[in-house]
Amino acid sequence: MVHFVGAGPGAPDLITQRGAKLLGGADVVIYAGSLVNPALLGLCREGCSVYNSAQMTLEQVLDVMKDAASRGLDVVRLHTGDPCLYGAIREQMDALDALGIAYDDTPGVSSFCGAAAAACAEYTLPGVSQSVIITRMAGRTPVPERESIAALAAHGATMVIFLSAGMLEGLQRELLRGAYTEETPAAIVYKASWPEEKVVRCTLGTLARAGQENGISKTALILVGDFLAPCYERSKLYDPSFSTEFREATR
Ligand code: SAH
Repeated sequence: MVHFVGAGPGAPDLITQRGAKLLGGADVVIYAGSLVNPALLGLCREGCSVYNSAQMTLEQVLDVMKDAASRGLDVVRLHTGDPCLYGAIREQMDALDALGIAYDDTPGVSSFCGAAAAACAEYTLPGVSQSVIITRMAGRTPVPERESIAALAAHGATMVIFLSAGMLEGLQRELLRGAYTEETPAAIVYKASWPEEKVVRCTLGTLARAGQENGISKTALILVGDFLAPCYERSKLYDPSFSTEFREATR
């Protein structure tokens, strides 16, 4: 059996209890070494075989899984954050289906949640934005034109941009082609939940410079939108004049 597990954003105690239990019981662990905090490997039991997928191809990963399955061993495939975002799990799952190897998937705390926590921010503020756009700049992996940064920025919604910290100049330019202005607040969150975590607050007009000044070009998320500004409306849910299924209005 292969267990895909979300490792969380970095801090070893941000993996789920289920993920930690699977990791502790695994005979073989294949972890995404470019981003998963190696401290998590401390949860593995003695004698567990550990592979770093940063140095492996998909075929090599599958070979390890195949070999383990043939010997009845339990494999944990450890992905950073939650495996559903930029995790390349689909191709592994399809190959496992073809091989007749069973698998399951345990979610993790995505870095976009870790980044909000690091910034003590709420992405969905009433009167500001009720949507979060998760995307990336095109790199070696292309992005469909209809999902270009400029096209998505036209909404003026909260945006969380992955895999783009090394392209901040281009990102800034593309974002400014949308509904934002040079004054729209932004933040660069580096290594959310790691000991070296850094939250750099800036505006869209100073985004690229802020990245440069702080020496950040990878392992960071870019947060953009007025949710980082001080103005918003109170929630209806906790408004005394608002009745809900659970509470009568008191005034
Ligand atoms: N599945 C992961 C994302 C993998 S893509 C998740 O759910 O978070 C890798 C990108 O995620 C990095 O380039 C960076 O943009 C972001 N990332 C991963 N961990 C991060 C962290 N701790 N802090 C900030 N960004 C992080």
